[in-house]
Amino acid sequence: MNLILLFNEDFIEPNGRVRLTGRRLKHVREVLRVSVNDELCVGLVNGNIGVGRVTALDDSVLEMDVRLEQAPPLPLTVTLILALPRPKVLRRVLRSAAVLGVKRIMLLNCFRVEKSFWQSPFLEQEAINEQLALGLEQARDTVLPAVTLCRQFKPFVEDMLPGLIQNTIPLVAHPAAEAPCPRALGGAATLIIGPEGGFIPYEIEKLRACGCALVSLGERILNVETAVPALLSRLF
Ligand code: SAM
Repeated sequence: MNLILLFNEDFIEPNGRVRLTGRRLKHVREVLRVSVNDELCVGLVNGNIGVGRVTALDDSVLEMDVRLEQAPPLPLTVTLILALPRPKVLRRVLRSAAVLGVKRIMLLNCFRVEKSFWQSPFLEQEAINEQLALGLEQARDTVLPAVTLCRQFKPFVEDMLPGLIQNTIPLVAHPAAEAPCPRALGGAATLIIGPEGGFIPYEIEKLRACGCALVSLGERILNVETAVPALLSRLF
């Protein structure tokens, strides 16, 4: 945790005094091992970053006076559209997307997404936000990505995707594509990543018909967790 993410409900005084318990208190005591008067990097969710000076600390509570004067880092100009992966993978991908600065994530159904994945408790907003918060704390960011669930492939591609890709470079990551994935785009992108078994030909054709280019990272088939950071690093 390189930044302690604060929420409005943590503030006990309007002049910037916060009180922490639970996971963040445990981390500060056991990992950061701070004492009274030490300073910590903090940030208000969807707000500024700054410094918190510890004013009280014991087994059950930590209090800090915080100053939040610095803007969070710039986001990546990408919409990440991800065929819904299995829950365990989803948690890790959400976290790493948040670490890398993705601010819009769309989880998409398609033929090779197992139906049971949509029943996962990890798709509840609270569970999603928990992973995103861990990513923000790692990266020293505060801006929570927006995550949208798109449970139907065809209406998504026909009705939503054309609007989403406007003014962006729309790319489908596809191992079999002939075109190499571009490097350092210098502009906004929409990046679509397939499921574990890959998109079926019908889906590839629908995405292509919508204007998306198919691009590859080469002959090695990466798992989704590896493909997401590899593609984002290459594009940005
Ligand atoms: N057998 C599947 C196929 O050939 O599409 C493999 C799917 S892979 C495990 C999951 C997703 O990661 C793919 O749909 C693609 O979006 C992305 N991916 C994996 N390796 C890639 C590569 N070498 N180039 C581009 N995208 C890749």
